[in-house]
Amino acid sequence: MKIYNTLTKNKEEFKPLREGEVSMYVCGPTVYNLIHIGNARPMIIFDTFRRYMEYKGYKVNYVSNFTDVDDKIIKAANAEGVDSSVISERYIKECKKDMQAMNVREATTHPKATCEIDGMIAMISTLIEKGHAYVAADGTVYFRTRSFNEYGKLSHKNLDDLQSGGRSLLVTGEDQKEDPLDFVLWKPKKEGEPYWESPWCQGRPGWHIECSVMSKRYLGDTIDIHAGGEDLIFPHHENEIAQSEAANGVPFAHYWMHNAFLNIDNKKMSKSLGNFFTVRDISEKYDLQILRFFMLSAHYRSPLNFSDSLMESAKNSLERITNCVSALSFAIENKSGELTEEEKALLEQAKGYQTAFEEAMEDDCNTADAISSVFELVKFANQALKEERSAAFYKELKENILTLCDILGLIVEKKEELLDEEIENLIAQRQQARKDKDFAKADEIRDLLKEKGILLEDTREGVKWKRES
Ligand code: AMP
Ligand code: ZN
Repeated sequence: MKIYNTLTKNKEEFKPLREGEVSMYVCGPTVYNLIHIGNARPMIIFDTFRRYMEYKGYKVNYVSNFTDVDDKIIKAANAEGVDSSVISERYIKECKKDMQAMNVREATTHPKATCEIDGMIAMISTLIEKGHAYVAADGTVYFRTRSFNEYGKLSHKNLDDLQSGGRSLLVTGEDQKEDPLDFVLWKPKKEGEPYWESPWCQGRPGWHIECSVMSKRYLGDTIDIHAGGEDLIFPHHENEIAQSEAANGVPFAHYWMHNAFLNIDNKKMSKSLGNFFTVRDISEKYDLQILRFFMLSAHYRSPLNFSDSLMESAKNSLERITNCVSALSFAIENKSGELTEEEKALLEQAKGYQTAFEEAMEDDCNTADAISSVFELVKFANQALKEERSAAFYKELKENILTLCDILGLIVEKKEELLDEEIENLIAQRQQARKDKDFAKADEIRDLLKEKGILLEDTREGVKWKRES
C-alpha cells in the first residue's frame, strides 16, 4: 500500500508499527452546528481507507475526536441561554445520524475534548517541566515554538519566514508571548465560559493540545497515520507535532494524510458566500449514498467541486450499479445450475477487475480509479445477463460487486422489507425468549430486526418499533 505522506511529500510504502495493525487518528468536527458537506469529505475518505485496510486483513484502531469546547460552541450556547454541553451533545448526536446515513462507521473511539482535561493538564505540565512551555502573568500557558527544532517540518515552512512574511498568520496581538510564534496551550476563563481547575488558572485548553492528548491516550505515543483536511496542516497539525514530540520524545505519526477541499460551484464553500450546505440539506434531496459515491469519484487529494449536475450524474452512476445488482438477484432466483468450465474461465477475467480495483486502492487510496474497475465489472455482468448463464455464475458476479462496493462503503442492494405483521411476530418471539431467559435468542432476534432496519425501543407500555429513516 502506498500512501502520500505530507511530511515527506512522497508516496511511501505503508509499513505499520505493529504487524497486521493500523493505528490512525482523524481530526473530527467542532460540534456547534450540523456538519457540512466539507466535513463529510474526510469522514467518507478515511472511513473508506479504513474499510480497505480491514479488507486486507489489518486490525484498524480508528480514533476520531469531537471538539466539544470552543468559541463557536460557547457562542451558540450563550445565544440559546444553555450550557455549552447542551449544544455539543445535540450536535454529536446529529453528526452520528449523518454518519450513519452516509454509511460512515463509528470510530473505535470517539473521544470528546471535555472528557480529557486531566490528560491535557498532564501533558502541558510535562511541556513546562521540559522548558517547552511557559506560564504568562494571567495564567495563560504558551508553547515555546522555537524550543522545538523541527517546527515547520509538516507544512514545510521555515520559522524565520513565518516570523517575517507570515506574521499575520500567527500574531494575535498577545504581547505576553515571548515570541509571536508561540501558541496557546491553556487560557484563562472569561465571563460566561465553561472552565476547569488547573495549576495555572481556572480556564480551558487550546484547540491543538486536545488531539495530541487523545491520540496519546487511545493510540500511544507514536501512531501509524494521522489524517484530516488540508486546512489542518498548518497550524493545527504542525502544533500537534511540536507538542507531542516535545512532550513524548518520540515521533508522533509516521504518515500524514490530508484530503483536499470540497468547493461549491468552483468557489470555496463558506457561509458568507451563501454557498453552504449541511449534510442534512443534501439528504432532503438525495439519498446520502449518492453523496458518498460523489465524494469517492475523485481522488482525495484533488479539490472536488460540488454542484447539482455532478450530484445528478453521481445518482445515475450509482443506479447503474444498483440496477445491475438487482438484475443479478433476479437471475439468481430464476435460473439454476452450477458453474460450467467456460464460466470458470470467465470468472478469471472478472477477477482481473477486482485486481485492478485493489491496485487502484493500493496507489494512495485512488477511489476514482477503483470505481472505474467496479464499472468494468458491472459492464461485464450486464453482458453476462444477456447470455444464458448458470445461477452459480450470476451469484459469483453479484458477490464480487458487493465485495468491492462494501469496501467503498456503498450500499447497492436494497434490503428486503419486512411486513408489519412479520415484525410483530418476531417481537413476540423475542418477548417469549426473554421470558424463557433465552437471552441469546432474544439478542439474535433484535439483531435480525436491526439488520432489516427495524429499531426497537423498550417502553413502559411494551416494545415499540420503528423503521430506520
Ligand atoms: P472543523 O469542524 O472545521 O474542525 O472540520 C472538521 C474536518 O473537516 C477537518 O478535517 C477539516 O479539515 C475538514 N473540512 C472542513 N471544511 C472542509 C471542506 N470544505 N472540504 C474538505 N474538508 C473540510
Ligand atoms: Zn486535531
